[in-house]
Amino acid sequence: MAFLENHIAVVTGAGSGIGRAIAAGYAREGARVVLLDVNEGAAAEAAKEIRDTGGKADSFALDVTRREDCVALGKEIAGKIGQVSILVNNAGIARRNGMLGADEAVIKDWEDVIAINLTGVFNVTHAFLPQIRAAKGRIVNIGSIQSFVHVRTPSSPAYTASKHGVLGFTKALAAELGKEGVRVNAIGPGFIETPLNAQTRATNPELAKTFIAHTPLGRAGKAEDIVGPAIFLASDLSAYVTGSIVMVDGGYRAV
Ligand code: NAP
Repeated sequence: MAFLENHIAVVTGAGSGIGRAIAAGYAREGARVVLLDVNEGAAAEAAKEIRDTGGKADSFALDVTRREDCVALGKEIAGKIGQVSILVNNAGIARRNGMLGADEAVIKDWEDVIAINLTGVFNVTHAFLPQIRAAKGRIVNIGSIQSFVHVRTPSSPAYTASKHGVLGFTKALAAELGKEGVRVNAIGPGFIETPLNAQTRATNPELAKTFIAHTPLGRAGKAEDIVGPAIFLASDLSAYVTGSIVMVDGGYRAV
C-alpha cells in the first residue's frame, strides 16, 4: 500500500541531498511531488529522475529568501498542478565561522543563514498556508541536532540559532493550526553525508570521525535514512503527532 496516494507534496531544496531523497521517497509512495530549488537545473534533473522511474514530478526554481516569489509560485502551483497538501521545508545552508571570526564573515553568515534556514521556512510556509489549511495538510520542517544544542564541529552561531528557530516555529504553528487538522512536525538529522558537508568531510576527516565516535549506531547517515521518518510525518501513520521533532541522528543526542 502506498502511504501518500492523492497527495501533492512540495519539497524545497529538492535538487540535492536530503530534499532530493525525500522527494523521490514521496513519489514512490504515490504522491505527486513538486521539487523547488534555487538551483533550477538540479531540481529539474531530480524531477526527471523521478518521472523516469514512473513517478509524478515537476520542478520550479525558487529562492526561499524571496518572499514575493514564494507567494507567486504558490499560486502558480495551485493553478497548474493542484492543491498542495504536504510541504517539506528542507532548503538550508551551513556555515562554519564562529562569532570571533572576521566581522565581515560573521555578519554575512548571520544574514545568509537566518535568511535561508529560518526566514525561508517562514516565507514558504506563509505562501503555501492557504492550500495546506484547505487540504488539512502536513508540514515537515528540517531541523537538526542543533535545534537543541550547539555542536562544536565547528558550526556557526547563526546555524544553531536558525535550527533552534525552526523547532520553535514548528511548535508555534502546530499549536495554532492543530484544531484545523493541520499537523506540523520537524525532523532532526544528525551527521548525514550530503553535498552540504562534502567539503568539510574532504578537508577535515577527523571531524567525521569525532561525530561518528559519539554516535551509538557508529556510522554517518545517508540522505535515504531521512526518507522513512519523512514519509511517517507526512502520512496518516502519524495522525496524532504534531509539534514534535523526530531525531534521525543515529542516537547522537541520546549520549
Ligand atoms: P544540500 O545537499 O546542500 O541540499 C540543500 C539544497 O538547498 C541545495 O540544492 C541548495 O542549492 C538548496 N538551497 C540553498 N539555498 C537555497 C535557497 N535560498 N532557496 C532554495 N534552495 C536553496 O544539503 P542537505 O544536507 O541535503 O541539507 C538539507 C537540510 O537538512 C538543510 O536544512 C540542512 O540544514 C539540514 N541538515 C543537514 C544535515 C547534514 O548533515 N547534511 C544535518 C542536519 C540538518 P545549492 O546547492 O545551489 O546551494
